Amino acid sequence: MIEFKNVSKWYGSFQVLNDCSISINAGQVVVVCGPSGSGKSTLIKTANALEPFQKGEILIDGVSVGARKTNLPQLRARIGMVFQHFELFPHLSVMRNLELAQVKVLGRTADEANQRGRSLLERVGLSAHMDKFPGQLSGGQQQRVAIARALAMDPIAMLFDEPTSALDPEMVNEVLDVMVDLAKEGMTMMVVTHEMGFARKVADRVIFMDEGAIVEDCSKDEFFERPEELSDRAKLFLSKIL
Ligand code: ADP
Ligand code: MG
Repeated sequence: MIEFKNVSKWYGSFQVLNDCSISINAGQVVVVCGPSGSGKSTLIKTANALEPFQKGEILIDGVSVGARKTNLPQLRARIGMVFQHFELFPHLSVMRNLELAQVKVLGRTADEANQRGRSLLERVGLSAHMDKFPGQLSGGQQQRVAIARALAMDPIAMLFDEPTSALDPEMVNEVLDVMVDLAKEGMTMMVVTHEMGFARKVADRVIFMDEGAIVEDCSKDEFFERPEELSDRAKLFLSKIL
């Protein structure tokens, strides 16, 4: 479903991604971790064509992200993206946030968009808040709205970039719970996170990045149960966060 083939990217002379290859099958959950500055955000943004890359290829459900003929708005509409900062439209109600792209991009009627919005708000436990503005919600609630908004587009895969790292600790689990449910329902997910509890629960694989390169790509069991076999850089990182 998501395939990176030998992807490299430079900012000027600085190489931010170094020959990255990853293959994520439909229904798989892949957690990406690694030190700050190792290229995780850049990697995940290239999958959505939010960042260009200079070498290699990325295929989303067989469609080449870098190819000139690829319709990028159409491709982006099919991949849900949730960032660290919630990035809801502050001047629109929660429900309008959910409806807007369904109508503008997918061409749904106002009624259809509203129905879909309602069912997703129910699913993330926020039905009571549909008429509020984002600023009236807690961080955890806003992030759940952001996830619902992404799901309203019926994405074929979801990308998450540290979705809980800007939240107060007591709000982390309400967001992770929604993500765990999504994973269990079979959504294809690429998740940058240091929440290793989440990784243990639902990850099929864990990828460890350092200095733009993929240093480890292994099963959850290999990563957590046999840490002695990991690279020194991965061991050091794990020792700091676990
Ligand atoms: P991570 O998400 O793992 O913390 P990033 O992908 O954000 O890492 O950044 C990787 C590296 O690329 C960092 O060294 C960062 O300073 C650099 N970088 C990120 N964005 C830019 C940019 N627009 N121009 C130049 N360097 C950048
Ligand atoms: Mg980042």
